[in-house]
Amino acid sequence: MTPQEIALKTSTRRCFAIISHPDAGKTTITEKLLLFGKLIQSAGSVKGKRNEKHATSDWMAMEQQRGISVTSSVMQFPYNDATVNLLDTPGHEDFSEDTYRVLTAVDSALMVVDGAKGVEDRTIKLMEVCRLRDTPIFTFVNKLDRDTREPIEVLDEIETVLNIRCAPINWPLGNGKGFKGVYNLYTDTIHVYHHGQGTRIPDDVQIQGLRSAEAKALLGAYADDFADEIELVRGASNEFDLGEYLAGRMTPVFFGTALGNFGVREMLNDFVKWAPQPRARETESRTVTPKEAPFSAFVFKIQANMDPNHRDRIAFLRICSGAYSKGMKLHHCRLGKEVRISDAVTFMAGEREQAENAVSGDIIGFHNHGTIQIGDTFTEGESLQFTGIPHFAPELFRRIRLKDPLKTKQLQKGLKQLSEEGSVQVFMPQRNNDLIVGAVGVLQFEVVAYRLKDEYKVDCIYEPVNIYSARWVECDDAKKFEEFKKKAYENLAVDGGDHLTYLPPTRVNLALMEERWPDVRFRATREHR
Ligand code: GDP
Repeated sequence: MTPQEIALKTSTRRCFAIISHPDAGKTTITEKLLLFGKLIQSAGSVKGKRNEKHATSDWMAMEQQRGISVTSSVMQFPYNDATVNLLDTPGHEDFSEDTYRVLTAVDSALMVVDGAKGVEDRTIKLMEVCRLRDTPIFTFVNKLDRDTREPIEVLDEIETVLNIRCAPINWPLGNGKGFKGVYNLYTDTIHVYHHGQGTRIPDDVQIQGLRSAEAKALLGAYADDFADEIELVRGASNEFDLGEYLAGRMTPVFFGTALGNFGVREMLNDFVKWAPQPRARETESRTVTPKEAPFSAFVFKIQANMDPNHRDRIAFLRICSGAYSKGMKLHHCRLGKEVRISDAVTFMAGEREQAENAVSGDIIGFHNHGTIQIGDTFTEGESLQFTGIPHFAPELFRRIRLKDPLKTKQLQKGLKQLSEEGSVQVFMPQRNNDLIVGAVGVLQFEVVAYRLKDEYKVDCIYEPVNIYSARWVECDDAKKFEEFKKKAYENLAVDGGDHLTYLPPTRVNLALMEERWPDVRFRATREHR
C-alpha cells in the first residue's frame, strides 16, 4: 500500500471495547452492533454460536459449563464509511486483568449502564483503567423498556461517581410499559419505539418536532410534561463538545434498549462520526503516529487454544502504524530478532481469516510458539518499545504445591507460560522455595490448575497464604534500596519477569512501609517489558 492508501484506510478505523457491569447488556448490544454491521442476519445467535464452537475443546467446555466467557474476541465490521473493530472483553469479574489490557489496545470505549441499577462496581473499576489513558467514552443507558430510575438521576450518578461530565444526546420518553421512544436534543426528532423488533434491524420511525401534532398524538396526555422536562434537561445539562469528549472529560449519553434493538443505531451513527481514529502511541523513545508508513504493533493479549485443532497460542497485536501485509519480515524488538510472518489472522466475527492488509487500529493475530510475550513490540526494523501495557497488582494469593514432587520442572514451565500469557502472576519469595500465584479473581486459580493438569500434566493443590497485596518496588538511591531490601527481606519476592516485589501480609504493613521508606516507590501496576 502507498502511504496515501495507508493514511486513508487508517482514518476509517474505529477501535473500541465495551465496558459494563455483568448483566447490564454488553452481549446483547454487541449482537445488535453485529446486526447493523451485517455480520449476522438476525440477533439471538451470538451466544449460541460461541458455545457451539467452543464445545469442541475441553478447555472451552469448562468455560461453557460455567456460562462465562473467558476469551476476548475481536470483531470487525463496516458501518457507513467506517471500519469498526470491536474488542470483546470477558464480562466475568474474575478475568478483569485481561479486560484491563484489552482497554490498552483500543482508542475509545462504550459504557453500557443498566437504567435501573445505574453505575455499578465493575464499571467504576473499568473507568479507572480508561482514565489512565484518558480514553474517550460513549455511554448507553440500557433497558428503558423496563422500569428505570429517573434519567436525570442516572446522569447525576455517572457525573459524581465516575467524575465525567454527561452530555445527553437523546432523552427517553417514558420507560417500562410507557416507553415511547427517544427524543434527539440536537435534531429535534423523536425516534418512535416499537416493541418486538429486537431480532432484526428495526424500522426507523421519526417524528420531527417535539411540539408537532404527531408528537402530541404519540405522547397523548404526557406531551406537555415531556416538553417541559426536555426544557429542563436542556437548561440543566452540558452541551456536547467533541473536544471534551476526545479528551475523556465528557461523555455523550444515549438511551435505549439493547434487547429491543432501539436506540442502538442512533448511538452507532454518532459513534462512527465522533469516536477517535487511531491515536498516537507512546514508546520509550518517541511518539508513534498512526499514519507513518513503517509498521509497528504491540502484543496486548495471548490466548491459548482458540482453535481446538491447533494447540498453539495466538498473540493479539494492536497495529499502531503502517500496514501489515502477508509474508512481511518483522523485527521482534525484545529479542532483537527478525521473523517472517506469513500467516497472521484477523478476526471477522470470531472467524479467523487471513489478514491481507491490516492498518493502524486493526488487530491481527500471530501464531505464538512460546517466544512472544504480552507487551512485546514488532516493527519493520526500528527498535521500539510501546509503553502503557500494565500488569495489575493481584488481589488474591495462594501457595501452589505439587502432588507429585518429581514434576517441579513441568510446573515451573507451565507457570512461566501461563504468566507470560497473563493468565496468572507468579511470585518466588526470597526466603524459601515456595511458588506463590497471584490473581485478580478467584476463578483464575481454578483455570490455572485445570490448564496445568490438561496441558502440562501436573496435579497441583493450593494452600492459603498470608499476603495482602503486591507492590513492585523501585528506588533511585541504591544505598537506601539495599537497606530497604534487608529490612523487607522476609516479604520480598521476584515475579515471573524477575521484578522485585514486596508482598505485605496486611494493609497496615504496607502503609507502614510506605511511610518509613519515602524514597522507595511501591507500584500497584507494572508495565510489561
Ligand atoms: P452482559 O452480562 O452485560 O453481557 O449482559 P447480557 O447482554 O447477557 O444481558 C443480561 C440480561 O439482560 C439478559 O437476560 C438480557 O436479555 C437482558 N437485557 C439486555 N438488554 C436488555 C434490555 O434492553 N431490556 C431488557 N428488558 N432486558 C435486557
